[in-house]
Amino acid sequence: MQQDYTISAIATAIGEGGIGIVRLSGERAVEIADRCFRPSGGHRLAECTPRLAVFGRIYDEEGRFVDEAVCIVMKGPHSYTCEDVVELQCHGGSLVLRQVLGLTYRLGARPAEPGEFTKRAFLNGRLDLSQAQSVMDMIQARTKASLEMAAGNLQGRLSEAIGNLRQEILEIIAHLEASIDFPEDDIEEVALGEAEMKVEHIYGEVQELLSSADRGRILRDGLRTAIIGRPNAGKSSLMNLMLGQERAIVTDVPGTTRDSIEEYVNIGGIPLKLADTAGIRDTDNLVEQIGVERAHSYAREAELVLAVFDGSDGIQVADEPIWQLLSQCRGRIIVILNKSDLAMQIGEEEIRQLAAQKEVENLYCIVSMSAKSGTGLEVLEKEIQNLAFGGRIGWQESVMVSDARQQDILRQALLLLEQTRITLMNGMSEDFVVIDLRSAWEKLGEITGDTIGEDIIDEIFSRFCIGK
Ligand code: GDP
Repeated sequence: MQQDYTISAIATAIGEGGIGIVRLSGERAVEIADRCFRPSGGHRLAECTPRLAVFGRIYDEEGRFVDEAVCIVMKGPHSYTCEDVVELQCHGGSLVLRQVLGLTYRLGARPAEPGEFTKRAFLNGRLDLSQAQSVMDMIQARTKASLEMAAGNLQGRLSEAIGNLRQEILEIIAHLEASIDFPEDDIEEVALGEAEMKVEHIYGEVQELLSSADRGRILRDGLRTAIIGRPNAGKSSLMNLMLGQERAIVTDVPGTTRDSIEEYVNIGGIPLKLADTAGIRDTDNLVEQIGVERAHSYAREAELVLAVFDGSDGIQVADEPIWQLLSQCRGRIIVILNKSDLAMQIGEEEIRQLAAQKEVENLYCIVSMSAKSGTGLEVLEKEIQNLAFGGRIGWQESVMVSDARQQDILRQALLLLEQTRITLMNGMSEDFVVIDLRSAWEKLGEITGDTIGEDIIDEIFSRFCIGK
């Protein structure tokens, strides 16, 4: 299915690079490229063999030289979008790319909307919706584990799981409908009995998928983490130690100040999202104190709080505000008894007693370690893995859901299956069971995009980047 317009966008990241790509997709892609790109051999682009790299020059409408480029034509349906696609591989400067892009607009292409290439791939049946969503997850993956999850879903792991469940539901429906059409008492009872067993199985599978959603979200978005502790407890040292594990990715959230910089550290495959690290350094400076207060309010809402105490110094008055803060934290708390390389003045049991005394409810565990030497870091890693994944192993291999929309659909599907179970248990007729099952089948189809409205599709792709 060709869409009305030929679209064009810069497909590579903004900034300077060796090569930058302007990509066109649609009925007129080859014609538009042909009007601005002259192959060096002297023939027309339309005469060149598709999929072969063609070297040439780009000229504007007035015949002025714009850039040298390599051009690749991919004729539909053998392309990303299933339409005719042309890639103009130019020099990777933002100005030159913008000139080429502007030229394609003037020659008849229109600017691609965010995610429109992938949306066309979806609309043309090349990818289903869960695969299309995983394209964005691949691009935005921050750790090896989240990349593996996205890659699995891009290859259709989630689509296959959902497809199988829908197929099983269809089979139950077919069986029940046959028994409605040929009503013989015993067949009817067998059909209902079997349906009950199969629905039970599907229910369990959906529940399992749903339980992967929290883990999937953590892998994709990171576990919101705060590091707190009095001055000199060793917070910065702990940060540096964790940063040294795998270089963190620092995202400067557009339009915000230094305070909102998010850093990701990778601990045992789990991305920890550390925001407001500015607040890690305590200070007397009033302006910075505001930053510290913000860091504290972040800590109250964080999913994981790493509370650092200087174990060589014992518990001091200066730790009092930290205990107060810990008693208000909603997330789980790992107390780090730091400086274990020195003579320790305080042990885990005392921390436990103090936590009880100070009404700290969410203490998860206590880890003795040295942020300076790194001793104990593996224990911390294990504890964080346990906390995030409940000690599950082999999660790299399993099917995972990471998206809030998919999670919501699974929740609704589970309710519909629950309804089916009740209908079956109450001994109601097959017709009612079939109606319930059909709703569950339709609901699950929303994940792969088989049963979904246009507005939701638009909403999903609008979150993509331009040029993808
Ligand atoms: P922050 O103020 O909480 O960020 O603490 P820092 O990380 O700046 O550490 C304060 C001091 O304690 C520095 O001199 C560190 O070198 C030292 N320190 C931090 N962790 C350890 C540790 O595990 N062992 C020892 N011996 N010193 C540490």
